[in-house]
Amino acid sequence: MASAFVFSQNMTRYDYGPWHPLRIERLELTLRLMEAYGLLGGQEVSMVAPQPAERKTLERFHSSPYLDALQAANTGKPFPGLEQFGIGPGDNPVFQGMYDWSCLVAGASLEAGRLVAEGKAQVAFNMGGGLHHARPARASGFCYVNDPVLVILSLLDRGFKVAYLDIDAHHGDGVQWAFYDTDRVLTISLHQDGRTLFPGTGAVEEVGRGPGTGFSVNIPLWPGTDDWLYLRAFEEVVLPILEAYKPDVVVTQLGVDTFHGDPLASLDLTTYGFERLIQQMKKSFPRWVALGGGGYELTNVARAWTIAWGIMIGREVPDEIPQEAMELLKAHGYAKDRLRDDYLWPLARRDVAEEFLETTIHRIKKTIFPVHGL
Ligand SMILES: [Zn+2]
Repeated sequence: MASAFVFSQNMTRYDYGPWHPLRIERLELTLRLMEAYGLLGGQEVSMVAPQPAERKTLERFHSSPYLDALQAANTGKPFPGLEQFGIGPGDNPVFQGMYDWSCLVAGASLEAGRLVAEGKAQVAFNMGGGLHHARPARASGFCYVNDPVLVILSLLDRGFKVAYLDIDAHHGDGVQWAFYDTDRVLTISLHQDGRTLFPGTGAVEEVGRGPGTGFSVNIPLWPGTDDWLYLRAFEEVVLPILEAYKPDVVVTQLGVDTFHGDPLASLDLTTYGFERLIQQMKKSFPRWVALGGGGYELTNVARAWTIAWGIMIGREVPDEIPQEAMELLKAHGYAKDRLRDDYLWPLARRDVAEEFLETTIHRIKKTIFPVHGL
């Protein structure tokens, strides 16, 4: 079955502002790298241009007053009252076209969901999506409209059993809280421990509520967690729970701010571990809606998502970067020594991160595993 790459050049038109860490040009950079490897053509690949989501679709999750504010801020001019919606200087700035941007990203994720639901693709990827922090009436963590929640809702409408897997360095809080009380969606988030990173939630004890108990899985990781520890968490916790839950479709948030050298987080993954992780997903997911997410070191983002897409479509991506793409990556700082911001949590010694993970795994096996008959 085909693989669908859902993308519109219009997505690259927007800009959060010159000082903002979320650089939309990372999408263009990734696209160019994929092109250089020849990954955007061929029989099994379909390129699909999305339409923006309509307001009534966003209302499935977001409140009307919030959407009114977002729509009014689309001009790029701030006005009083936006603060109550989490919009303003800092993480969630006002910028020109912010409502249009949000609708387009959500539309692309919904299109990816539709293609997979209708059996037109086994996997569909919207690298612009994965804006997992947005809340019903509040922007948060660079996210205004929660496209993962909207896709999951659309899949539930079609009668699918859905699992959501979030591998961003930050806790997938917006999606977790949206489905915290229900067993109709299993949410799993691996992330840097909330005591050391935004948004502060995602402790092991957050397991869901009422009928949802055991259907929110949190795997906090200590700063400095590397490929091996991460893969261990994935194999010992994520895969068994997913296998027991037996979803019809898995929605993933593939944030790559987990990588060594990311300016916003303190995990220590490399393309080696990431590649193995994505291969496991490809092997074990029946149908797959793949979304992007965080990632603030642009050349890491481009390389990681190119590798991911290569695996999704079953093509080899050689280590050697094509010459024309290399020039472009170098222009974006590839292979330059990067300084970490000093407000970041320092990377722990490996044995500290390992001990932390063992405690986490032990607790999840006690609280979550029995709910799933494990
Ligand atoms: Zn993140």
